[in-house]
Amino acid sequence: MQQYNILVLAGDGIGPEIVNEGLELLKQVEKIDNCSFNISEELVGGAAIDAYGEAIKDETIQIAKESNAVLWGAVGGPKWDNPSSSVRPEQGLLKIRSELNLWANLRPVKIWGELINASSIKKEKLVDVDILVIRELISGAYFGKPQERREKNGKREAVDTIYYNEDQIANVAHLGFQLALKRKGKLHSVDKANVLESSRLWREVVHEIQPQYKDVEFQDILVDAATMHLIRQPADFDVIIASNLFGDIITDEASMLSGSLGMLPSASLSSLSEEGTGIGLYEPIHGSAPDIAGQGIANPIAMFLCIAMMFRHSLNQEVIANKIEKSVEKVIGYGLRTKDISNDSDNPVSTKEMAKAIIDEYKKL
Ligand code: NAD
Repeated sequence: MQQYNILVLAGDGIGPEIVNEGLELLKQVEKIDNCSFNISEELVGGAAIDAYGEAIKDETIQIAKESNAVLWGAVGGPKWDNPSSSVRPEQGLLKIRSELNLWANLRPVKIWGELINASSIKKEKLVDVDILVIRELISGAYFGKPQERREKNGKREAVDTIYYNEDQIANVAHLGFQLALKRKGKLHSVDKANVLESSRLWREVVHEIQPQYKDVEFQDILVDAATMHLIRQPADFDVIIASNLFGDIITDEASMLSGSLGMLPSASLSSLSEEGTGIGLYEPIHGSAPDIAGQGIANPIAMFLCIAMMFRHSLNQEVIANKIEKSVEKVIGYGLRTKDISNDSDNPVSTKEMAKAIIDEYKKL
């Protein structure tokens, strides 16, 4: 029997609500499939600030390093929102990404057939949309130094720095080309090379690597044009590579193609070997959704799809990953909807009802 160490970091807001349902799914996987999980649960984000005065403890990072995978719910909320506070919930996320060297953030955006009506984009534009955004995760504008507030001549000023070196860009480029080869064979590289020096280096390095992947149809695209094309012709995209900041913005935009943030998973990896193994952190792309926290109505599907990605990329269990995705597809297919993906005519179900229905389908496969 395969045994896996999983660190579970539920966080704040709807984080614990969706993570609890994910744990129910893992219990079923243990019963049906030949594997068992050694699960550790720790506080992160606002919950950790309240308990320990910091957004993630060093001991938690250590447990993560000894795990096969980390499941992350979401962090943040109005209680910890003071921008001038030196301790903030998202510091926990940035720290664990950096400490585990999780440079590759994979964000698939797919339209689940029957959910085409939940999107605010015209139906005909959404046919065949299946995009994989690869966002560089531990450099760029979110980590570059200096990053500070200061005063000059009695006036406040602030500075952020976009830093990239050629190795960081090359890693993302190779991963993008390789994954494009396994998909529809198309790659768009997003930058702002007409203005930013870091983007000019990004473009230069990607172009140096491109001749190694002659079978991939490749195109650079400026970030402003990319945001426009994503809405106008989303089906034109296959794999997109982008820096930390551009990738963050583009994926939230792309999430609207699928109708709700509550549908989109992500995997953050330090490598993607041929076997598909390597420690990874799996988190929905949505946040802690304070506006609906505690109401039991959050969509657990992004979390379930994160667990599918975990089985695929960190645990090398493709069959289980496919079964989870199939179960989600079935439930959507027969019309079950949480509030975020429902129409006026639907009768939305709760987080627990949606999760139970998916797990029931899983049991049948
Ligand atoms: P959000 O993603 O939490 O919510 C945006 C909107 O989407 C809200 O209306 C929310 O109700 C809805 N939504 C999100 N997830 C949903 C789900 N699973 N089911 C149904 N509806 C869902 O973004 P926000 O409101 O900008 O941020 C709230 C907090 O989350 C902030 O403190 C922010 O910093 C934090 N945040 C954390 C992460 C993370 O932990 N990875 C990511 C993004 C934002």
